[in-house]
Amino acid sequence: MRILIVEDEKTLNTTLSEGLRELGYQTDEAENLKDAEYFIGIRNYDLVLTDWMLPDGSGLDIIDQVKEKSQRTAVVVVSARDDIESEIAALKSGADDYIRKPFEFDVLVARIEARLRFGGTNIIEIVDLIINPDEEKIYFKDEEIELKGKPFEVLTHLARHRDQIVSKEQLLDAIWEEPELVTPNVIEVAINQIRQKMDKPLKIDTIETVRRRGYRFCYPQVA
Ligand code: CA
Repeated sequence: MRILIVEDEKTLNTTLSEGLRELGYQTDEAENLKDAEYFIGIRNYDLVLTDWMLPDGSGLDIIDQVKEKSQRTAVVVVSARDDIESEIAALKSGADDYIRKPFEFDVLVARIEARLRFGGTNIIEIVDLIINPDEEKIYFKDEEIELKGKPFEVLTHLARHRDQIVSKEQLLDAIWEEPELVTPNVIEVAINQIRQKMDKPLKIDTIETVRRRGYRFCYPQVA
């Protein structure tokens, strides 16, 4: 999952970024509107966390750009404005959540995770397949499957978005640290490993290739 942090207070920006990275998120940091717009233009985000008052304008102004690119990207606005009118204004501008400064990091993370629809747990359970992202473990019918690293992350991402077709670009943005520096070929390699190391021995299909569009998690197959 990739998060863009737009915050001009350098220390806060770094604290947020380091904290979120420790939790396994990919993050990009912008300190002004211009840089934020640049990142939104080139990468896909699951969530954009933006400060309201930025040196070159209002954080609310990026909401339209984010939503235009993808309705699914959540926008969380943080601000020192503590009046109800401001909170309402932010939500009316299209923000999915509003968090008043100062905030506790743990509370912020909980709100982000709620926004990303993780629910109470990160564990993904699909019939007899269990994926535990925190421990990087997969179980099928109580047997542990050896799949680690990028293939594991690709599988997890697709399982989390199993109602959607996910493009190679979206997978790169969500999983690779510097998506521009790798070729989309790395996705094919990861998918191939999932099929060889997991699907084949278990005689199941977990990922369907959707021509020219990307991949879809397809387990269990519905007849
Ligand atoms: Ca600010």
